[in-house]
Amino acid sequence: MQTLRKHIRIAAALVGALAMTTTIARAADPLPPQGDAVEPTPRLVLQITVDQLRGDLPGRFVKNMGEGGFRYLMNHGVWYADAHHAHANTETIVGHTTLATGADPATHGMIGNVWFDRQTGKLTYNIEDPMYRILTPGADVDKATEIDPTQKVASTDGRSPAVILGSTFSDELAIHTAGRAKIFGVSIKDRGAVSMAGHAGKAFWFSKTSGGFITSSYYYDRYPAWVNEWNQQKPASAYSGKSWELLHEKSSYLFGDADDKPWETDLAGYGRLFPHPYGSDKGKYFNTRLTLSPAGDDLTLAFAKTLIAAEQLGQDEVTDYLSVSFSSTDYVGHLFGPSSLEMEDNLLRLDRTLADLFAFVEKRVGLKNTLIVLSADHGGPEAPGYLNSLGIPARYMTPEKWDKEPAINALKQKFGIGKELIQSYRHPYVYLNRKVIREKGLDQAVVEKVVVDELMKFEGVALAVSSTALREGKFPNSPLIQSVLRNYNPRRSGDIFVVFQQHCFINDFDGLTVTSTHGSPWRYDTFVPVVFAGGRLTARRVDHTIETVDIAPTLTAIVGAKPPSGSRSAPLQEVLQGFAK
Ligand SMILES: [Zn+2]
Repeated sequence: MQTLRKHIRIAAALVGALAMTTTIARAADPLPPQGDAVEPTPRLVLQITVDQLRGDLPGRFVKNMGEGGFRYLMNHGVWYADAHHAHANTETIVGHTTLATGADPATHGMIGNVWFDRQTGKLTYNIEDPMYRILTPGADVDKATEIDPTQKVASTDGRSPAVILGSTFSDELAIHTAGRAKIFGVSIKDRGAVSMAGHAGKAFWFSKTSGGFITSSYYYDRYPAWVNEWNQQKPASAYSGKSWELLHEKSSYLFGDADDKPWETDLAGYGRLFPHPYGSDKGKYFNTRLTLSPAGDDLTLAFAKTLIAAEQLGQDEVTDYLSVSFSSTDYVGHLFGPSSLEMEDNLLRLDRTLADLFAFVEKRVGLKNTLIVLSADHGGPEAPGYLNSLGIPARYMTPEKWDKEPAINALKQKFGIGKELIQSYRHPYVYLNRKVIREKGLDQAVVEKVVVDELMKFEGVALAVSSTALREGKFPNSPLIQSVLRNYNPRRSGDIFVVFQQHCFINDFDGLTVTSTHGSPWRYDTFVPVVFAGGRLTARRVDHTIETVDIAPTLTAIVGAKPPSGSRSAPLQEVLQGFAK
């Protein structure tokens, strides 16, 4: 009987996978809904992270949203209306790992998408790891066509969570269940999947080179059969020759008459106006364009649903974990800004994607047996052009145009040498050349101070903080300084942290000029939604401020596990009370 049931489930998974290749919509699912009893701990924890979903965006566009997606979360969930990341460098790996661990980057170690490795003397991409190669030959980053500048930094095609310090919620779940919990992370971005799966889970992410979902030898020796089948059906190719089109009548959108704005990124062949063509699947940038549109989220959804079915998540009393990180909102935000017709349509489509996922989970696991938590790795700034059109000052920063001559001369005057003292500046961190400082017999703290003083003279710099000064507590205990301190890891952080003024940021992505870039400690970058739904939770809006580090210890408390090792906060009482009802 067990075996028969297993066969039926595998068959159901295959049927689901086949249905998906043509429509990328709801996979066929013959399994009946679960019974009525609500169990004390959820069978499935479904953690959704929407890359760059600023806290105000779901509410801003909810009017045109349908049922079952964001409305389900709003009408049934505990919604925290003022949630923030508490660290200064609001980038993707930093935010994801904070959500996963409940720790600050100072503690979990992921202080930036990229940092300078003082041991190797090279910039390093957060989760790159030469020990664990990607399983699909030739599916690693193609530097010739990669437009995500942080991905291009990786000098190896290996990936693993080894650099993440301490445990994630998913790790604690594995420990708590004697390894019986099934734990998975899925995303278009490798860093969106690997961070959340933790050390104990399995991660899959999208390869823009192969057009399929891939993993590394850290997780598997060979792909599970269902992953091979999924990839062989080439779901991405279903978009060949198609375009990203508006979901609704243009006039129904808040930004319906704002499609053609000069500050939007006019990517060759993709354009600023609807429809945005994907081109042929033979095209060099075909898969990239899918990721820059809601199609990336559709593929992620289809893969996640197949995973839920094939791996039979949430089918017994052992709590399983699935993290789905949707990346399209981030790329759409970078290209068009959060106040654009593209972002509005993207979020309406994301709403449909969420509704589809929740309906699928309802059928297979039951939402009452599932705990959903949705948040974001960071928010995002408005396009300066958009703010300027409303009379609000904002602009792009161009550090490469800074006249560095006076600063270099000041260093030379003081220490006898100038630019040799700077090893690397990858915003927000400046790394000093410690070898040169040592060889010249200089005092590191004195050099830091002079560089800080010179940086502060540059236009657009709001704050430059040296690590020595941070360590010695030489600053007033302001929220800004606290956020920089939470980002400070002595092994990986640079010697000086630079904060640009509000509404000022770099918009150069290694030669590609984009519309907006997050990464600051300002409120528009720290502000994210946090909502818990499912189980016995009922609708509640919570207005007091919370931090994203609160999420992981809340999850461990609900499943009865101990808090992640570096987590610094307490469980959210509104969620615990709702769940214990
Ligand atoms: Zn981003």
